[in-house]
Amino acid sequence: MRDSIVGKLIQAETKRQKETLDLIPSENIVSKEVLQALGSVFTNKYAEGYPAARYYGGNEYADKLESLCQERALKLFRLSPKKWSVNVQPYSGSPANLAVYLALACPPKSEDGKVPTPKIMGMQLDMGGHLTHGHSVSATGKFWTAVRYGVGKETELLDYNAIRRMAKKEKPKIIIAGFTAYPRLIDFKKFRSIADEVDAYLLVDMSHFAGLVAGSAYPSPFPYADIVTTTTHKSLRGPRGAMIFANRESKIAAKNKIDIAKAIDRAVFPGLQGGPHLNQIAALAVSLKEATEPSFKKYAHQIVKNARTLAVELKKLGWRVISGGTDTHLLLVDVAERGIGGKDASILLEKSGIISNYNTIPYDHRPPMNPSGIRLGTPALTTRGMKENEMKKIVTLINAVLVEKKNVSKEVHALCAKF
Ligand SMILES: *Cc1c(COP(=O)(O)O)cnc(C)c1O
Repeated sequence: MRDSIVGKLIQAETKRQKETLDLIPSENIVSKEVLQALGSVFTNKYAEGYPAARYYGGNEYADKLESLCQERALKLFRLSPKKWSVNVQPYSGSPANLAVYLALACPPKSEDGKVPTPKIMGMQLDMGGHLTHGHSVSATGKFWTAVRYGVGKETELLDYNAIRRMAKKEKPKIIIAGFTAYPRLIDFKKFRSIADEVDAYLLVDMSHFAGLVAGSAYPSPFPYADIVTTTTHKSLRGPRGAMIFANRESKIAAKNKIDIAKAIDRAVFPGLQGGPHLNQIAALAVSLKEATEPSFKKYAHQIVKNARTLAVELKKLGWRVISGGTDTHLLLVDVAERGIGGKDASILLEKSGIISNYNTIPYDHRPPMNPSGIRLGTPALTTRGMKENEMKKIVTLINAVLVEKKNVSKEVHALCAKF
């Protein structure tokens, strides 16, 4: 690369990724083919609109590419194009969720601010929800009235009775399920029945666990949801980006007399975005094909086995794991209980090359800047080929850092060199 400054940064980042253990649950490592497609000449092209309905010339191959990507997305999740549409243009997960709210709960124009804005209902950020599920600092919490549920204090699990009570009282237009720090299965059927009781749309944001759904290692939300959004760069192992699936047979959409697929497409473009990032769509198409291969199914199951091993081994060494374990790719560890802040723990671990992130735990009594927990996940390490034995080793390393205050860089290096 002629730009040696950026070139050196890329080299340094490559080295960092090789020589550290990435336990951030929302990160992964894409294939060379995905990188190639991302760096392809499709980045040069404008294609505002949708296949066969563009506002620019020269889109013969762009049309083929986007249609192929849509076909692969539906095929991966075993969906019929008659029943489901998919939009592959969202730049990332946050604009994808914004597009859904815009499509299905568009705020009314109001000169005097007296018309109440439509209500959305999602999980609180500090219990495991996402900013874009209505947090006050997010546009989704400013343009919409947001009500937010949590988990039970004792169980640290979703309390469906409490969620039902809140839905009945608040009558939201959209109920959101799908989280960033919830380690357990979600009962999509129960969410469906709650949404039906109050005539709300059910949006499942499967950003974190989409790869597990693709590999049949986590229940599919598709039999129950009106809309499914997902990022493409987490457990799904594609480029950064997002997709929105819309259920053409949504009963609530029929009741509201809206064409749900069309509403989503119009909200993405021209509602929110301009031209799609075709290079990103090319890379997504490549990764979707990779995810339909039998090896991906094995990968998805290994992710969960690895996360379970982390949880079991940490518990053996006396660490409290939120909700007692995990059914997914991630877990939350209460480090404050052992006298160390989440941020402090994360910084100590990084000094030895173990990369995690600090996170609030349910009903956290500490501030979000140095909360009680760390969040650990296994998609990236599983991509490198690590299995249960390596997870056991990693737990002993984490324990050595946090309890014995040891620096284990050497051991981390040696482990990374093997994978
Ligand atoms: C990551 C994530 C998002 C946002 O995705 P970005 O690509 O970071 O904008 C939205 N919802 C959930 C549940 C997520 O985990």
